Amino acid sequence: MVLAHGTDSYYKAIILETLVKETSSSSVNPTEPTVNIFRDATKNLTSLVKVELLVMVNLIIFGAPGSGKGTYAARLKEKLNVEVIATGDIFREMIKEDTPLGRKVKAYVEKGLLVPDDITLEVLKENLAKIPRGKGFILDGYPRTLKQAKALDGIAKIDAIIHLVVPDWIIIERLSSRRVCENCGAIYNLLFLKPKKDMICDKCGGSLYQRSDDTPEVIKRRIEVYEKQTQPLLEYYKEKRVPFVEARCEKLETPPEVVVQEIMNGLKRLGLA
Ligand SMILES: [Zn+2]
Repeated sequence: MVLAHGTDSYYKAIILETLVKETSSSSVNPTEPTVNIFRDATKNLTSLVKVELLVMVNLIIFGAPGSGKGTYAARLKEKLNVEVIATGDIFREMIKEDTPLGRKVKAYVEKGLLVPDDITLEVLKENLAKIPRGKGFILDGYPRTLKQAKALDGIAKIDAIIHLVVPDWIIIERLSSRRVCENCGAIYNLLFLKPKKDMICDKCGGSLYQRSDDTPEVIKRRIEVYEKQTQPLLEYYKEKRVPFVEARCEKLETPPEVVVQEIMNGLKRLGLA
C-alpha cells in the first residue's frame, strides 16, 4: 500500500518501522493506535530521538519565470530535510534518456504544448515514490492547473506554499540579460554572472546566445500567462487554509541568501523549520 506523503498514517508507518528495528522483540502491533505506540516508545530513548528527527515538510513554490524559483529551491534543499521535484527539469531529463514516457513528453514539449495532466501526474507519482522515507519535498512547476492541484491532494499533504513576489521590471531586466551556451546549456547573466571571455562559455568554450523567448516583449507575455495560470491556484490553497510564506524581492541585486533567509524565517514562524 502506498501511503499519502505527510499524513498521519505515513508518520505512523515510519515510527513503526523505527520501533520494530529498535526493539529486539518485535512486539509492536501495527493495528495499535499511534498514541499507544508513542507511550511504548518512551521505554526506549533511542527510538524517541529518532522519531523526533522525522519532522518533515511538504512545500510548493510558486514564482514567475525569472523569479529565481529554481535557485531558491536548491538552497532550501540544503537547509530543510527535503528533495526538490522540478517537473520541468524531470521532463528534460526524461527526454534526454529517451524513456517510453520521455518520448510521449517530448511530443508535447517540442510543439510548445503543456504536458497533459495524466502524464504529469504519473511522472510526479514516480518521483514522489523515490523520495527517501521521512524526507519532505518542494514542488517546483507542479501544480499548474486546478485539476493537478486536486490530484495532488490525493497523494500528498501540503504544509505550506512559498510565494515569490517579484516586480515585472526586475524579471524583465534579469531575463533579458540572460545568455545560454549553445553547446552545453550553461546559463550566464550579463548583470550578475558574466562569462570570463565575452560571449564565450567558461565551461566548454561554446558560443553564448540569447534565447528567442528572453526578449522584453516575450517575457512580458510569459509573465502574463504565468499570472493567469497561477492566480486560481493561489486562491485554491488560500481557501483550503494552507499557510503561505511570501518572499518579496524589491531590488534587482537582492542576493539569493537574503530571500532564502526570509523564506526560512517564514517557515520557522509556522513551526515548519
Ligand atoms: Zn558551454
